[in-house]
Amino acid sequence: MLSQVTTQDACLSCGACCAHFRVSFYWAEGIPMPEQYTEPLTAVYSCMQGTNQAQPYCVALEGGIGEQVSCAIYTVRSSSCKEVQIADEQCNKARRAYNMIPFIPIETAEPINDDDFDQVV
Ligand code: SF4
Ligand code: SF4
Repeated sequence: MLSQVTTQDACLSCGACCAHFRVSFYWAEGIPMPEQYTEPLTAVYSCMQGTNQAQPYCVALEGGIGEQVSCAIYTVRSSSCKEVQIADEQCNKARRAYNMIPFIPIETAEPINDDDFDQVV
């Protein structure tokens, strides 16, 4: 399968996960967001406007998917937004949906040779 190594700023030219899933979160996370950007989902959950539909597209997503994108509420985005990490399963699922090449997940191995080292402060 075709895949590629990611770069740190890959999200800035992607945005696929912001327009592929329903982005829901505990309602209180929406308090700092503009009111019109969220909608109630259940008694205790809200979601981003535009994501609770057949073809989700978050209202806060600015720019064109696969080109140049940004999040209008980046500093107060929900925990669900932060959960998606570059090259994880959800990321690559969303990218495939937009015909973008998925990323190769990079495993970070636990260090095995740093016992007895003190942290330099
Ligand atoms: S799909 Fe992956 S690369 Fe694209 S914006 Fe989301 S986390 Fe970033
Ligand atoms: S709030 Fe921002 S990060 Fe979260 S889905 Fe919408 S555009 Fe993406």
